[in-house]
Amino acid sequence: MLPFIRSDLAKFTAYKPHPSSDTAESVPVQFDRLDTNESPYDLPPELKEKLAWTYQQVIETNRYPDGGHETLKDAIAQYVNESAAISLYTAANISVGNGSDELIRSLLIATCLGGEGSILVANPTFSMYGILAQTLGIPVVAVGRNETNFEIDLKAAQAAIEQTQNPAIRVVFVVHPNSPTANSLTAAELAWLRSLSEHILVVIDEAYFEFSQTTLVGELAQRPNWVILRTFSKAFRLAALRIGYCVAHPEAIAILEKVRLPYNLPSFSIAGALVALQNRALLLESIPQTLSERAKLIEILSQQPELQITASAANFIYLRLKPNSFNSPDAALKTFHQKLRTLGTVVRHISGGFRITVGTIEENARTVNRVQAVLANLEF
Ligand SMILES: *Cc1c(COP(=O)(O)O)cnc(C)c1O
Repeated sequence: MLPFIRSDLAKFTAYKPHPSSDTAESVPVQFDRLDTNESPYDLPPELKEKLAWTYQQVIETNRYPDGGHETLKDAIAQYVNESAAISLYTAANISVGNGSDELIRSLLIATCLGGEGSILVANPTFSMYGILAQTLGIPVVAVGRNETNFEIDLKAAQAAIEQTQNPAIRVVFVVHPNSPTANSLTAAELAWLRSLSEHILVVIDEAYFEFSQTTLVGELAQRPNWVILRTFSKAFRLAALRIGYCVAHPEAIAILEKVRLPYNLPSFSIAGALVALQNRALLLESIPQTLSERAKLIEILSQQPELQITASAANFIYLRLKPNSFNSPDAALKTFHQKLRTLGTVVRHISGGFRITVGTIEENARTVNRVQAVLANLEF
């Protein structure tokens, strides 16, 4: 340990990035990369050409980017309104980040830093909330979920809110629908979120909104302690450009603007997000196919007697091995994961199961074949 580093950082592990970034050969390009829930489709060539033109003709690389993001915020506000058939929001309700990850960190800095608050998460869930909190020295309180439908253990969550002290819980993070388990918030979970005191910030991460088509942005206007996060990394096919946004009350947005770095989004990313929004009908055309492919994957894989698969509202599925199908399920899962990888399909091994992104039609067909082939010879 370097002597000048904060002692609490030693016990945390960094977020494990996409395996393709480990080394050039660890995931050759011909692998089906179904472990990070990206769109399987690159931007259409005509949009790439448009962006290339913008890069050549409009962007001056010697100049700082537009640090106020006004044009992009206007376009996002319009899309947010359209996504819920409302006309409530303007640029004053939007903040943009270098991925939603940056916004998560800004929210943590704005609420809990310096011993002022703890956060609550319900595992399994998106790991970045906990990881980013820990790097800031913010305590993370974790409760569990129902083992079959993955609903949050609301009794435990309520008890945590009432009992956590020094510092008390100031932020609750939920994903709608959740990752890795793919379930949307239920009526009971929503009722609990609505019941929370206005002293607690509720962060609703709608990274998969375009696949679930359920959003809480309509209700946000009446709830000053709620914020909604969304991203361009999934349905909009721009994971490489790192753009996320937050919808919130203007006062909360003003705080986020105070906390962020002045030029957090490169000019090219701003241009990319604008092009994506202008062409959203074209980009979102692929979603019905993803949803029908998801249904097909779930239907076929559910016929495997060893697998337990939950319903999904996102662009991925989550499965576990049935409790009595193997003597040592953990060892079976590990070998299962390795064998799938050897055959060329990379999935995410997480929380005792696999999260598998819905890919192209060809990738999904290979997923089914490979899962069936591995299970046929898996003995543990
Ligand atoms: C993929 C994902 C995001 C997106 O993060 P970016 O930093 O915008 O790429 C956010 N939240 C959840 C739950 C996700 O799964």
